[in-house]
Amino acid sequence: MIAKIKCPVCAEEFNLESDLEASDTFHCAECEALLEIVSVDPLRVKAIRDRAE
Ligand SMILES: [Zn+2]
Repeated sequence: MIAKIKCPVCAEEFNLESDLEASDTFHCAECEALLEIVSVDPLRVKAIRDRAE
């Protein structure tokens, strides 16, 4: 399956060609933010802060 993700950090849209499950994590291809799948239907993602600003 191909899922379309919109990064909540940089607003870049990109596709993930993999089966996604809630709580899966991945890095945005654009800004490298760590993102987590909140739910797959509907598809929602959130950013996880993994470094201090
Ligand atoms: Zn991003």
